[in-house]
Amino acid sequence: MSFDHTELDRTGPRFLASLRGQGFTETPSAPLTATDRSVTFVNASLTPFKPRLLAGDKIGRTCQVQQCLRATGRAPWLYVFGMLGVLADGEYLGDVVEQAPQALLAAAPWLAADRLAVAVDHDHGDLRKLLKTSQTLKSVQARDVHHEEVPTQWSYGKDGRLTGRGITFFHREDTAPCGPDCAVGCRCGRWRELGQVIEVVGPHAHYAEAGFGLEPVQSIALGGDPYALPAVRELTDRMREAGVADESAPQAANLVRAVTALTEADVRPGGKGGAHVMRRFLRELLGLLGAADGPDDRWRERLHRAVPDARVAGVLIAEGERWRAGRATAETAARTHLRRRPDASAQELAETFGIPMKRARRMCEEVSGFRP
Ligand SMILES: [Zn+2]
Repeated sequence: MSFDHTELDRTGPRFLASLRGQGFTETPSAPLTATDRSVTFVNASLTPFKPRLLAGDKIGRTCQVQQCLRATGRAPWLYVFGMLGVLADGEYLGDVVEQAPQALLAAAPWLAADRLAVAVDHDHGDLRKLLKTSQTLKSVQARDVHHEEVPTQWSYGKDGRLTGRGITFFHREDTAPCGPDCAVGCRCGRWRELGQVIEVVGPHAHYAEAGFGLEPVQSIALGGDPYALPAVRELTDRMREAGVADESAPQAANLVRAVTALTEADVRPGGKGGAHVMRRFLRELLGLLGAADGPDDRWRERLHRAVPDARVAGVLIAEGERWRAGRATAETAARTHLRRRPDASAQELAETFGIPMKRARRMCEEVSGFRP
């Protein structure tokens, strides 16, 4: 089956158009760093609104496609992703339960209404009632769950001042059930998670939120793999061409997307918080690009091939030079230590001077080789 890939690019605009048509107000994507102290980066479409929600402000009915970053997890999860979001005052919870899934179906015509399924908590009778009265959802497959089976409760940020309880949406795929107990939300691959509609509870007011991951929704059109999305696949291919090992190329592409978004948000590498996340991403990527060790100066050339954006490449090269200089200093210190104590173990060198174990072993071997 051939699929028009430009359809994918229309996902976000169609989602917003559908909601604007229902009277929702579109808000722009906030910068990744527009957060309060409880989270490092915008990690959900709700994050930029947190101060207003904590204050109990009225926000009406809004919709947005928010760029988000989650620094945890590894491939196949994309660190940077879009979130198709809806946020409204609590009195609109019923509208959001009805209209957010409708907008999702309009945005992604490869989803089928009769394949939608939901999981809702045993204890949330009010939410189950809203599902039953929804035109779009009244006949979808619904599973009553406990929070341990499928998450039904959330907390927004570490301070726990905003919490939520809600409905998780899935799309049923054509794979056979894994077993007789296979049910909505099972992780066997039959149920792809789309996102949630959540009632958000703040100290002064309630709100209604919906959030669906843009890339996971788009990738359903291509069999469910976000690395099959054209832009991600192109980046992965470029990583391979720049010399990244086949099996590491998807993770390298994931990291390039993340450091590009962070560079655009003016995040620079450093020791704490978001700056530390940036440093961790840059160094992992530099490692995959072969910039970590060895006297080889080709890493700069390889990096320019992998990352054509001059600004992002500049950030990577500066960090690479800093890293290599730090390594050289650490190795000099380790060699001095080895001259004084030639029986020092590689483990000790690695731990004391922060050099990679492989390198520390080689240094020990060199010293023992010189022994009479
Ligand atoms: Zn299953």
